[in-house]
Order: sequence, then structure tokens, then C-alpha cells
Amino acid sequence: MDLLAKIKSLSQEHSGHVVKQRRHLHANPELSYQEFNTAKYVAEQLRGIGLVPQEGIATTGVLAEIKGKNPEKKSIALRADMDALPIHEANNVPYKSQVTGVMHACGHDVHTSSLLGTAKILNEIKDNFEGTVRLLFQPGEEKNPGGASYMIRDGALKNPQPSGIIGQHVFPLLPVGKIGFREGMYMASCDELYLKVIGKGGHGAAPDLAIDPILIASHIIVALQQVISRNASPKQPTVLTFGKITGEGATNIIPNEVNIAGTFRAMNEEWRESALKKIKKMAESLAEGMGGKCEVEISKGYPYLENNPELTRRLRAAAEAYVGRENVVDLDITLGAEDFSYYSQVIPASFYRLGTRNEAKGITSYVHTPTFDIDEEALTLGPGLMAWMAVNELR
Ligand SMILES: [Zn+2]
Ligand SMILES: [Zn+2]
Repeated sequence: MDLLAKIKSLSQEHSGHVVKQRRHLHANPELSYQEFNTAKYVAEQLRGIGLVPQEGIATTGVLAEIKGKNPEKKSIALRADMDALPIHEANNVPYKSQVTGVMHACGHDVHTSSLLGTAKILNEIKDNFEGTVRLLFQPGEEKNPGGASYMIRDGALKNPQPSGIIGQHVFPLLPVGKIGFREGMYMASCDELYLKVIGKGGHGAAPDLAIDPILIASHIIVALQQVISRNASPKQPTVLTFGKITGEGATNIIPNEVNIAGTFRAMNEEWRESALKKIKKMAESLAEGMGGKCEVEISKGYPYLENNPELTRRLRAAAEAYVGRENVVDLDITLGAEDFSYYSQVIPASFYRLGTRNEAKGITSYVHTPTFDIDEEALTLGPGLMAWMAVNELR
């Protein structure tokens, strides 16, 4: 049997076990940076197949290596994230979340179990490849500053530095059996903006004795859209959204202050830096010009995600060999964010999508919703595909 056929048959053979692992993780979700039991479970599963996991990296992360023949020759890293979201699951399934208000609604249970399956396959065929595969199970993808940044800080990409890193994410817009790739820019940077507009409260009938922060905030919201429409290059995707505004006055009361919160997204680090400066300056000076004050707080999130073109091209070719060309699709850019982008700033990285949708079974809900689920058929494909990609990279 050739290696491709062997990997496929192992992936098929282990799929029942991987589904069991996924269901265990799904029923026992943990929030970002609190993945203590998940990490323990992952380490146990890795020990169960004969690996020696390193626990405690990035506090709740797990690292392990599978050494083929001539392990020093080359190394490739594979990444899964392990955290769940503060959402109460609405699905009525046997593996429903057992934790009130916490749910694997972004498929990180799928990524973790799939990578455990990949590890099992690679460990069984380690005489068939040269080099080392490093497995990264990271915490905190869903919450700033991003578990990936802690993994890097704690040396997950050192000794030796892998030649590249591959990440997989479920995709409820893509039918199960299909895989999506995109070369180059793929996802956005994401920064949180908190603006406090300070005026002077007073009677609604006597605005001359007050400084109206509601009016100032309104001007700021409108004016800041100029940063996008007049300062961003029309060739650069970028978005500014304010989703929250609170001013606790009344019909006849001008409040003292108004708070505004929003998100700024971009796909170019230079533009990102200059836009954040412009946003701050415009908000501050506009408020000042109107007699008030604006305090701008920026919580910096993940950088934008660049899929290394050469690596992505090779992975795509490997995927085409595995699932057939007709099952590999081009992804569009998205202004969503992913902390996998941190790895892409250090080494060549590629983030691809695993189709998990099945309309016939009614599995269509988007990620981050209480009814999100996947067609578990994806777990027959996911582990083997990633193993095959890793082996190809080590060739
Ligand atoms: Zn998510
Ligand atoms: Zn996710």
C-alpha cells in the first residue's frame, strides 16, 4: 500500500475513537486560559499512544513531538486550539455541554481531537518519514492577548525552529468533505476601542449651562468613519464598527459622560498603526473643540493573518491528492481574526478550513452560536489529511 492509501485507511480506522475524544471535549468545555482539565486529557491521550508530552507551556498548553527517521533533518509544526466560549449550548445531543454557560461553539474540540487523531496516525507511520512533527495544543484563542502569543513566548517555535506551521479550522459555510485554502492575506487584525466622552451634565432645557457628551459622541462616531473612507487605501480591506454606546441621561437630563466601544480591523500592520493614531487624535481633538474631553483606550488584539504562499500552495496540492481537486476550494478573505496569526509573524504559516456543514442533516449554524455543531464525518477526513500534509512537508 502506498503512504497516501495507508494514511487514509488509518484515518478511517481511528475515526470512531476521534469522535469519542471530540464528544468528551465537547461535553467538558473550558474557557480561555482555564483549559486545565482539557490539557490534562490531551496529555493523557498523547501518553496513551506512547508520546512524551510537555505540559504547562503557556500554563495550559501542551507540546509533543513525533520523531521519524533522521529526526534532525526537518521539522514541521501542527497546531490546535483548546478553549471554549461563554455561550449556553442549545443543541440537544448526547454530547451536549455539561457546563452551564460554556460551550465549544467554535469547533476547538474538533481541532483538538483531530490533532490527537493526526498524532496517532503519524506515530504509527513514523518509519515512513524523515524529520520531526511538533504538535502544539494551545490555550486561549478566543481571548486577548491570544494563547498563541504565550506559546511563542514559552518557546514553542524554538529548538529547533520548525520550517512551517499548519492550522486547521472548522468552517460551517463549507460542506463536509471539502477543504478551503487561501494564499496571502486571509484574516484581519482586531483591536478593541473604548472611548469615554466627558462633558458636563445638566438640565435638558438648559444646554448652555452644560457640555453635552451625547452630541460630542455623535460627532465622534460619524467623524471616525472618515478614517476608513478618506484615509484607508481603497485597495485595503478595513472596518470600523461601534457596537456599543451608553449615556445614562434621560429625556430631560444631559449626562456627564458617554461611553462608546468598538472594533477596528485591518489587513496591513502599517495602516493599522497609523489608523489607531488617527482615531485617537480625531476623537480627542473633536471632543476638545466642542468643550469636552475624550479618553481613548485601545486594547490591541491579534495581528493580521498572512498565509505563506509557497507553503499554502504545497498544502493545497497535498489536499488535492488526498480529497480530489473538485473538493478543494478557494477561500475569500474575512475580517474575522485568529491568533494563529502570531505564528505567521515568526515562521511560514498556513491556516486552512475544514468543511463541517451538512444541510441534509440540518447542520448549518455558524460558529459562536448556541446551535453550532459539525457533521462528524469531518473527523474521518481531518486527522488523515493533516497527517498527509505533514508528511509531505517533511519530504
Ligand atoms: Zn471563535
Ligand atoms: Zn475558532
